[in-house]
Amino acid sequence: MSFSALGLSDQLVRATEDQQFHAPTPIQLAAIPAILAGQDVRACAQTGSGKTAAFVLPLLAKYQAYRAQLGSLDPDLRPKQKAVQTLILVPTRELAAQVGETIRALAKHLPELPKLACVYGGVSINPQMMALRGGADIVVATPGRLLDLIEQRALSIAQVKHLVLDEADRLFELGFSDELNRILNLLPVQRQNLFFSATFAPAVQALAEYLLQSPARIDI
Ligand code: AMP
Repeated sequence: MSFSALGLSDQLVRATEDQQFHAPTPIQLAAIPAILAGQDVRACAQTGSGKTAAFVLPLLAKYQAYRAQLGSLDPDLRPKQKAVQTLILVPTRELAAQVGETIRALAKHLPELPKLACVYGGVSINPQMMALRGGADIVVATPGRLLDLIEQRALSIAQVKHLVLDEADRLFELGFSDELNRILNLLPVQRQNLFFSATFAPAVQALAEYLLQSPARIDI
């Protein structure tokens, strides 16, 4: 099975070729069609399985379709400010940077590049606030910094359509459960939820059950 047989656009398939991805990994084979179909996903996946591209590729496909739809609208009706469509929550700054790199690499042939913002703690907030001016299409964030930026009114997550929790077990281990709850309360009810974790201890399992509606269950 190839990436194009999974229903990805030529531009996205070209990017996988540039990355020397010769064929989808098992998690990509399972997750990409489910995400494209709009399903929630509960994936048990380790680092190294190709989990990042498993959610980035179909989310970029959705972004590409959204842009094409906007392009057919009367210019006066197009939104002036970019509303965050996709929010990817990660436990650490290193993972935020890695996911950001994967998004940039896989988006590079799209006719319109998504505006991407990677925001994380441990560095000054001001450049991140500047980067968010005019909005963003995709935000990769650690929970604490995301909440700080929302409080400063630097961004809104009220129109998010796709939420990813990446390494959800580590979000818990690092003590982010209060922040996660606050973030979940700020999200619209109608959205697609993608839940990736290497382990499913009871607290992680409980969050997955609370968050996900009839998910595709993937165990790699
Ligand atoms: P991840 O599990 O997302 O941390 O990815 C682990 C590594 O696998 C990354 O370096 C990716 O570039 C690489 N990778 C992801 N998908 C594929 C694929 N289909 N074929 C070969 N390598 C891949």
